[in-house]
Amino acid sequence: MTNTSAPAATVVTQERKVVTAIPGPKSQEMMKRRNAVVSAGVGAALPVFIENAHGSIVVDVDGNQFIDFAAGIGVTTVGHSNDGVVAAVAEQAGHYTHLCFTVTPYEGYVAVAEQLIKHTPGNHDKRVMLANSGAEAVENAVKFARKFTGKNGVGVIDHAYHGRTNLTMGMNFKNAPYGTGFGPLGNSVFRAPSSYPFHDGLSGAEAAKRTLSYFEKIVGAEDLACIFMEPIQGEGGFVVPADGYLAAIQEWCTANNVVFVADEVQSGIARTGDYFATTNMGVVPDMMTVAKGIAGGMPLSAVVGRADIMDSVHVGGMGGTYGGNPVACAAALSVFEQLEDGKLFAEAKRIEKTLGGGLRQLQEKYPVIGDVRGRGAMLAIELVQPGTKDPNPDAVKKVIAYGAQHGLLLLSAGSYYNVLRFLPAVTTSDALLEDALSVLDEALASL
Ligand SMILES: *Cc1c(COP(=O)(O)O)cnc(C)c1O
Repeated sequence: MTNTSAPAATVVTQERKVVTAIPGPKSQEMMKRRNAVVSAGVGAALPVFIENAHGSIVVDVDGNQFIDFAAGIGVTTVGHSNDGVVAAVAEQAGHYTHLCFTVTPYEGYVAVAEQLIKHTPGNHDKRVMLANSGAEAVENAVKFARKFTGKNGVGVIDHAYHGRTNLTMGMNFKNAPYGTGFGPLGNSVFRAPSSYPFHDGLSGAEAAKRTLSYFEKIVGAEDLACIFMEPIQGEGGFVVPADGYLAAIQEWCTANNVVFVADEVQSGIARTGDYFATTNMGVVPDMMTVAKGIAGGMPLSAVVGRADIMDSVHVGGMGGTYGGNPVACAAALSVFEQLEDGKLFAEAKRIEKTLGGGLRQLQEKYPVIGDVRGRGAMLAIELVQPGTKDPNPDAVKKVIAYGAQHGLLLLSAGSYYNVLRFLPAVTTSDALLEDALSVLDEALASL
């Protein structure tokens, strides 16, 4: 296909519409093609093929329109085929698509680094390294922490998720399914209990004390290079730690020459109503990993950290062919430009109000909803056996299936597969949120 002019903008009405059985006939045909050539190890949460996506709606090849509460797993935070991102990508592609920053530098990479330094917590001297995926950012953060401290150990907590590369598989709470059969995994990873207010009832200080006494006993600060924490856990089920938990961990890290890394791959970039979740948690991480929402759908990730840590690595010790690709950087700069006036943060908070409020109303109606939690446009419900806190993964499966049949794209999460997480674009209108809530209401009623 030749493409000599800018792509014509496809009009996608922002409405839910189901016109065939799901998956429709064309999607079924394409699934057959897919299954004949794509590895069986690559799943599909919703087996429909998408032809267009704009804003908060994805349109499949059969003409069905879904309200997208997945946003590519929290990536298209500014909306699908966001006008600014599309224009920036087209403009940059007309200049060059790739050079490799460690061969010849270009401005976009530097400008993204400047934005990250400006908007991550803390006014200390910082440096940045760009990569392609969240897992790659986490891997590189471990390299920085090890080089800087001269220590090996990597501390992680229960329900954590950090990726699918060899080292990050070993950092995940769940070996199954992420690591099953793929070992041996990277070692020197140590896991401690987390803060999970719905289940443990501990204050932040109590939970931190438990986490830290665990690390002290199983490894000790003398062999711990870093501790990784998601400020709000993503795959683990949007678990928001108790107030003060992260700050207490950070304080211990600072006192013990352990690098405190906030993995903001899922929680960062407007998701929770500010640049980062830690922006409002009273912590200033030594290092941060950023990816998912940063470039409006283009693959880009970053490690942002204290200059002394980030500059401790020898020249040539960091790099990669594609890291900080210029087209992805142009997309990220458009995202940062759109965040600048704070309106999209207000939009995320509006989503917390409308969707979160609606979910709380549903909780009063349906005892299967044990907990409603999250921040901004990163919200979740934990489904339980009514009257207990025991996981109810079956109910999650049924609600997702109901949503699929009725034009609402939903994702699960949680170590016990019993959490429904909602990751709409922050621009999703209240009308669409209310419509999605009505589908959820019907789905819960159908259980
Ligand atoms: C998704 C995710 C990762 C991995 O990112 P990829 O781009 O899939 O490699 C790492 N950490 C967190 C918190 C994530 O949500």
